[in-house]
Amino acid sequence: MKKKKDERSSLPSVDEILKGPEGAAWLASFPRSVVLQAVREAIAGMRQKLKDGARPNTSSAVLFSTIEGRIHKLSSYSLQPVINATGIVLHTNLGRAVLSERAIENVISVSRGYSNLEYDLEAGKRGKRHVHTARILHQLIGAEDALIVNNNAAAVFLSLNTLAKDREAIVSRGELVEIGGSFRVPDVMAASGAMLREVGTTNKTHLHDYETALCERTGLILKVHQSNYKVIGFTEDVPVSELVRLGKEHDIPVMYDLGSGNLIDLKPYGIHSEPSVQEVLRSGVDLITFSGDKLLGGPQGGVIVGRRDLIEKVRKNPLARAVRVDKLTIAAFEATLMEYLDPALALKRIPVLDMLFQPADVIQARAKKLAARLRKQGAAADIVVVRDVSKAGGGSLPDASFDTFAVSVVPSQITVNDLERQLRSAPRPVIARIRENALLLDARTIRDSEIQHLVEIVSDALSRA
Ligand SMILES: *Cc1c(COP(=O)(O)O)cnc(C)c1O
Repeated sequence: MKKKKDERSSLPSVDEILKGPEGAAWLASFPRSVVLQAVREAIAGMRQKLKDGARPNTSSAVLFSTIEGRIHKLSSYSLQPVINATGIVLHTNLGRAVLSERAIENVISVSRGYSNLEYDLEAGKRGKRHVHTARILHQLIGAEDALIVNNNAAAVFLSLNTLAKDREAIVSRGELVEIGGSFRVPDVMAASGAMLREVGTTNKTHLHDYETALCERTGLILKVHQSNYKVIGFTEDVPVSELVRLGKEHDIPVMYDLGSGNLIDLKPYGIHSEPSVQEVLRSGVDLITFSGDKLLGGPQGGVIVGRRDLIEKVRKNPLARAVRVDKLTIAAFEATLMEYLDPALALKRIPVLDMLFQPADVIQARAKKLAARLRKQGAAADIVVVRDVSKAGGGSLPDASFDTFAVSVVPSQITVNDLERQLRSAPRPVIARIRENALLLDARTIRDSEIQHLVEIVSDALSRA
């Protein structure tokens, strides 16, 4: 008992540490509040261990390195870049779409100073923030008007609230989907004040199902894209063009929640389940909603395009202000959309499209390069390039698989779980997956500029037996 007490009181005081040479060095490079907190926490941690009867190493070397670790933690960002070695291009947990260089540059340029966000340069007076993205969307896809809000969930919510509050929105039972987390069509609809009128069955819905549901309470016919699942077998749904005809006949707007919303015809790439926004617009749908950070490859956002009078109503909804986007998002959107003026270039310059549609031999070459460099470092592991398949992710293209190549790492001195954990806690964290006894580094989502980094991080982790 007496000994423990002595040890506790033998720990240096906060003041002593701050006045010593180490303290002075920390104070010269880090904010005083951070150093102070780190020193206090480190001392408190050791006191607690001693009190609990543990016998921690109380040498000043250990104490100082604990303090230094805490200082670094306290002064580094919580949100930080990671290397995505999962092969999943639209990984919602890893920030979904990687922005194009042009989008990044535009965000920097617009945020560095003032901008004409809500200023009409021609008229010399107050303007509107939605005009910037509406202009390019009109140019690209011929949309009468457009509005961008915080995300597609907000786009759907706001549109429903504007067009179908206290009225019925007709939806096929086969389209009452849940898109990860908390976006469920019936729940969003309830929150928006629209009354759900389900028609048809899970696998089949016919035009006459919609027809019989139409009544004086109908505010909207809603179609929802089966983004993240597929109903196969004995199925039938009503083509958009027929819903459009029905809507026109009864003067009821038709809205299509497209989910991903791509602006390029993906059929040449073997993807037939994802109609382009242009295609859907041409069919005569009144409003289309889609995400900015799925296949479009832009910032988080929800795009509403379509009939001018309806968009105008949506814009005037008081809730529009609550989900409006900031100038950084608008800057990133406009630049991303500009890339689509030349679709062939967009496929190269928009990282999401580039990563999804890069030829397998390019991925293989990257995997081989990574594997060769790891072996050259003498990494303590069995390293081979393996074939694999990856998914698009982010609730997009559920039925598409992409052939890919991964570097399989089977460590010889540590367990594969240890390796995975160490990669996650590296200064530049690496997110990878484990298959059987191997850690797989999927080369599809690894950027060329990250290879050297990755080699260092993996070799370092493997050598820490
Ligand atoms: C992803 C998705 C949403 C939600 O979009 P967020 O931009 O993630 O809010 C809504 N509807 C469909 C059909 C989707 O696929």
